[in-house]
Order: sequence, then C-alpha cells, then structure tokens
Amino acid sequence: MRTRADTAIGVDVGGTRIRAARITPDGELADRIAEPVRRDRDGFADQVSRLVDALRNDTSVAVGIGIPGRVDGAVQQIRSAGYLDIAGLDIAARLRDQTGLPVRIENDATMALIAEGRVRGDGCKGLILMVTIGTGIGGAMLQDGVPWYGGGLSGQFGHIVVSGDGPQCNCGRRGCVETFSSGTALGALIAEAGLPAGTRAGELLARADAGDARASALLEAWAAPLRRALETLVAVVDPRLILLGGGLGHEMAMALSRLSSAGAWFPLPVEAARLGDDAGVIGAGLAAFGSPASLRPVRSA
Ligand SMILES: [Zn+2]
Repeated sequence: MRTRADTAIGVDVGGTRIRAARITPDGELADRIAEPVRRDRDGFADQVSRLVDALRNDTSVAVGIGIPGRVDGAVQQIRSAGYLDIAGLDIAARLRDQTGLPVRIENDATMALIAEGRVRGDGCKGLILMVTIGTGIGGAMLQDGVPWYGGGLSGQFGHIVVSGDGPQCNCGRRGCVETFSSGTALGALIAEAGLPAGTRAGELLARADAGDARASALLEAWAAPLRRALETLVAVVDPRLILLGGGLGHEMAMALSRLSSAGAWFPLPVEAARLGDDAGVIGAGLAAFGSPASLRPVRSA
C-alpha cells in the first residue's frame, strides 16, 4: 500500500540535459540532479543507471523515465529518440534488473503533460495537448486526464510539415515545424542574424518590445511556422487547450502573442505550461506511481 513517505525516481531526458529527482505522490520534487545528457548508447545507459543509483533510497518504490522521441508507451519500447542514439535500447529492463523496482517509460512530452494535468486537477477535462519547445519539438495528448496514444506513437507534433522545401529533418522529410521553431532552430536564426551565440529568447522579446525591428523579425520567423502547425492541430482534433512546455514554452507563447491575429477558423487556445522545465521530471515520477487517471491537484513549483 502506498504511503506519503514513498517516493518515485523521475528521470527526464532532454536533447541536451538530463534531469532526475525524487518525486512524492503529491508531485513534490526533492534532490534534483541535472547534467549534460550522454548521446551515445552505452554512455546514456550508464548515465541513467548512475543517476537512479544516486537517488535511490529505502523510500523508492518505482522509476519513471521520459524519453525525447518516439516511445510506444503501450509496449514500453523506444522506437527512436532523434538526437540520441538509443532506438531499441531496453532501458526499462536494465533498470528493473538493477533496482528490482517497477519502471515506466513514456515520451517526455507525455510525462510533462501528466504533471501539468495534475496541477490543473479538474481543469484538464476534455482534450488537452502539450507541445514542448526544446532542442526539438515534442507533443502529447491527454483526454480527460488519460494519455491518448493512438497506435502507440501519437503526438509527434514536431513533424508536422509547414513548408515543402524547408530544411532536412531527422525524420527524413523536409520542412517539419521542428526545423523552424525548436530551440535548435532559434539558435540558427540568432547566428544568421549576426547576434552573439547564446542570445536568449527572453532578451529578444525584451528588445522587440522596445522597438528593435531585427528582434521582432527574428521572433516572427521562429514563431510563425509553429502557429501554422498549431492551426493544423486545431483543424484536426479541436483541443480545449494547447499547453506550450519545454525549456522555451513560455517564450514561444510570448512570441506567438506578438503575431498579428490569425484567421477566425482556427483560433489557438494556447497557454504556457505552469511547471516549466520541471514538468517532465515531476510527470515521470507521477507516472511511475501508477495510473495518471486519478487526478489530484498538486502544488505548482
Ligand atoms: Zn520531421
């Protein structure tokens, strides 16, 4: 039987950083570790094992891992992970052998959406989408608080094509929205504009608000393709809410709000996610505890 003293180990794998922490059944986060992610297969497996070992204690009852890529949650398999060489890696079995604990893997955006759903309690009734803006662009869907997987791999919103002759994408096609509106794409736009590497999106938003035309044009080039992709999502599934998460979710929501208003057919019910970058690791812990269907509000971090 679950007690309040139980914790799960949540691991959130990003395209550049990996975070891990102990998570309580109420979604409280403790003893966070964050470091650059190892992109090679053996290095990644060793890294996850080490982080789980570092956090494991006698309160640990389960492990959850959010993976950035195509994860079939129904059969607990990693099909591909874009920037990481871990397709087919059975990280769940490896950790089960290591710890003797139940292990659950999901797409990272699904984990973030589970955490946001908990924060919103009854506010996550209906169909809610998460679009994560980070190294790449991920996505997930929650119907009345329950992840909606489709055939197992739904939610690859970063691969909505918004331009037939756009840049080459990891998926083999051209012009996916990830190649225009991810954090990686923002870095490329900043370099093209001759701005210093490491210029932050928040700085561009402040400059644009102060009347800097170059910053405004750069933000429009970053956000307008995402708006086209979100309009396509609205046209297809008509969600009640689209949450923008990941490291740049808040900044993207601000950049979208600067664009001139869209046509009346596809109004965007967009909000920035509340838990920010912590959503993925909190959701990984909550998912590890069991079914995310029982929604209870948790305190926002
Ligand atoms: Zn693609």
